[in-house]
Amino acid sequence: MSTKEQTYIMVKPDGVQRGLVGDIIARFEKRGFKLVALKLVQATTEHLEKHYADLKGKPFFPGLIKYMASGPVVAMVWEGLDAVKTGRVMLGATNPLASAPGTIRGDYALAVGRNICHGSDAVESAQKEIALWFPEGLVQYTNTLEGWVF
Ligand code: ADP
Ligand code: MG
Repeated sequence: MSTKEQTYIMVKPDGVQRGLVGDIIARFEKRGFKLVALKLVQATTEHLEKHYADLKGKPFFPGLIKYMASGPVVAMVWEGLDAVKTGRVMLGATNPLASAPGTIRGDYALAVGRNICHGSDAVESAQKEIALWFPEGLVQYTNTLEGWVF
């Protein structure tokens, strides 16, 4: 666990269409994470197939790629103490029906196939996903959180 741990968080097309981008960013900001990359992207199916390569072969895979390509996504990298695990807790369970109230999915979603957001599931997958979505690299800067939230 590191204070500089980075996780890849993405607002999916339904989250963008429903106007939830600001809320999701606000939750990560207020929790104390540092934003180190952010962009709005219309992803290609080839790119999404790489992102979800581990799920190739699942019956829902074609539908998942179609959903993810149906509109722009907001790609972000957030940095801070235990960012990967804490990010997943903030997102809630994969199936929103099982997500606790107070989590993003638990507050705003019902269906597993329209669950608003993505978060890396391990430090290694975060590193892979960050490299895939931000080949140009992240933004280097100092903010005022250091010394206050950890
Ligand atoms: P998570 O996004 O929580 O890491 P997974 O990696 O298991 O979950 O699955 C990736 C995404 O695939 C999910 O967020 C969801 O959008 C979709 N998905 C997972 N399981 C199903 C399912 N049974 N039916 C439809 N879509 C699913
Ligand atoms: Mg996953």
